Amino acid sequence: MDQQDGQPDRRSLLAQWIEESRRIVFFGGAGVSTESGIPDFRGATGFYHQDLEIPLEQVLSIDFFTVHPQAYWEWFAQENAREGVAPNAAHRFVADLERAGKLSAVVTQNIDGLHQRAGSERVLELHGNWSRLICTGCAERFSLSEVEGARSGAVPRCPECASVLRPDIVFYGEMLDNDVVEGAVRAISEADLLIVAGTSLVVYPAAGLIDYYAGERLVLMNATPTPYDSRADLIIRDPVGRVFQELEHTGRRP
Ligand SMILES: [Zn+2]
Repeated sequence: MDQQDGQPDRRSLLAQWIEESRRIVFFGGAGVSTESGIPDFRGATGFYHQDLEIPLEQVLSIDFFTVHPQAYWEWFAQENAREGVAPNAAHRFVADLERAGKLSAVVTQNIDGLHQRAGSERVLELHGNWSRLICTGCAERFSLSEVEGARSGAVPRCPECASVLRPDIVFYGEMLDNDVVEGAVRAISEADLLIVAGTSLVVYPAAGLIDYYAGERLVLMNATPTPYDSRADLIIRDPVGRVFQELEHTGRRP
């Protein structure tokens, strides 16, 4: 079916490169999770709060959260009510690579924690993780499951001091965590294969991080062209989950 555009050959080349590599870095964006039922939040339509349509970028900005935390928590409840959200073949394959000692890190722009659910341990979350909560008063940390009603839409409160809890995500208007960025820079600069998947590479800091890659096997897996296509050694346009599902099925498991 894809024969004419040579995609199967590209997938065999990817499989071969994976086989030959020992320090793979998987760098993923929203497109890695869309096949898991999580939409791309950027470019998503507004979120409705008390009959007002609020742009999602506003719901996810720190200035807005500070004044209207309920908008975030209502949005979070709505997102978490989605049925059937689970890791897909891409998450599973990447976790297998780590277990096989072939992958040094996952760097992700996603906040959904699906890589960990698939079994990945070395996950550098550039934008944090929405299932970890932090108290805005006493800075105590909690996991989502420790806080009753955190998925209900009501603003969760700290069990210790009753202050508002916030998610451990990087809101718009906040700085990225320095340790996470440094870890990503180190892993990428030492990688022998860099797979960039499901990101258009137009958002800070994704593009800047790719610049640290010094190897000769840069794979770009994205549905649409990116500003980095001219530097890629292999470009794959198929949906990310499907590519890895086919790698699984062809027995090319790590
Ligand atoms: Zn507290």
